[in-house]
Amino acid sequence: MNSPLKSPLKSTAQTPELVDKFGRRVDYIRLSVTDRCDFRCVYCMTEEMTFLPRNQILSLEELLQVARAFTELGVKKIRLTGGEPLVRGDILSLIQNIGQLPGLEELLLTTNGAQLGKYAAPLRAAGVNRVNISIDSLDAERFKRISRVGKLESVLAGIEAAREAGFDRIRLNSVILRGYNEDEVLKLTDFAIERGIDIAFIEEMPLGEASDHNREDTTCSNDWVRSVIEEKYELINSTEKTAGPSRYVQIPGQQSRIGFISPVTHNFCEDCNRVRVTVEGRLLLCLGNEHSVDLRAILRDENCDHEDLKQAIIAAMDLKPERHYFYDRDHAQPVRLMNMTGG
Ligand code: SAM
Ligand code: SF4
Repeated sequence: MNSPLKSPLKSTAQTPELVDKFGRRVDYIRLSVTDRCDFRCVYCMTEEMTFLPRNQILSLEELLQVARAFTELGVKKIRLTGGEPLVRGDILSLIQNIGQLPGLEELLLTTNGAQLGKYAAPLRAAGVNRVNISIDSLDAERFKRISRVGKLESVLAGIEAAREAGFDRIRLNSVILRGYNEDEVLKLTDFAIERGIDIAFIEEMPLGEASDHNREDTTCSNDWVRSVIEEKYELINSTEKTAGPSRYVQIPGQQSRIGFISPVTHNFCEDCNRVRVTVEGRLLLCLGNEHSVDLRAILRDENCDHEDLKQAIIAAMDLKPERHYFYDRDHAQPVRLMNMTGG
């Protein structure tokens, strides 16, 4: 392919590295395997959603090829996400294949947990190291209000199945929203501690418009969430450097780590090591910006081969913006909802 995107590899080492123009090395991708979901969480989706037609989404073979290209370019960690990854047909075969890619060190999955009762053990067997399970309330009615359609009991059963399946780590993800669940910070923390699993609190991000609330009214800062936890527990900043956006703290004598993902109040872009691929095959260089490259066009162009795909990914690194500007009125805000972005 005679592509203007082509540029030389940025490393002389044997495994090429993906490095952006700010010197950040990208070794982590979040691969969205579907935009669909069996929930309709108020902060993520609108109630009436139109999903992508089948011909616009990457096939399982295309998803595997994308994953292979990235691992050949030095990516060591892949998180499968969505939408809800467990609603994608034949997801286990994709996971098995990705799990065997040379160079991949960690295969992770983010899920709403509703189908983990059925999937936890096979996922573990297929090579998933760690799972993140989203849960925003421990009250069944509230859980339904936030997820619009989800059943708390299925997620609780999914968490238990994940514990039994023996993943290296399990982390709960909770988005705390004023007016919905801000009084459950300690309840959710205790729930994680009692089970010896981690929990991360994620600030609501302005990705697309929420249809049931104004995000500026509901977003709770993680400084506030932390102060609530500190009313009960001593928190010690962890020195452990993780390869994700979470900042972890520990409670003396407890196994659980508490994470804070604070994209709104604490910009963590300077350490950003990741990019996303949407299920349409759009390589998104930043969660909060629209800079992207259409990998599907390359995958489906009969004049392009796997090398062209890799070259396009390498060249795309130059498009990675320095940072996002959530809630900055001088900068355009993303119109894409989270299910299209890949959380
Ligand atoms: N369906 C799976 C799940 O819910 O875990 C995976 C996809 S979901 C988009 C990934 C994560 O993004 C979830 O933990 C969810 O709570 C979070 N999320 C979705 N929309 C968000 C938003 N606007 N701001 C912050 N987090 C959001
Ligand atoms: Fe579905 Fe996850 Fe979005 Fe909730 S956060 S609607 S479970 S994709």
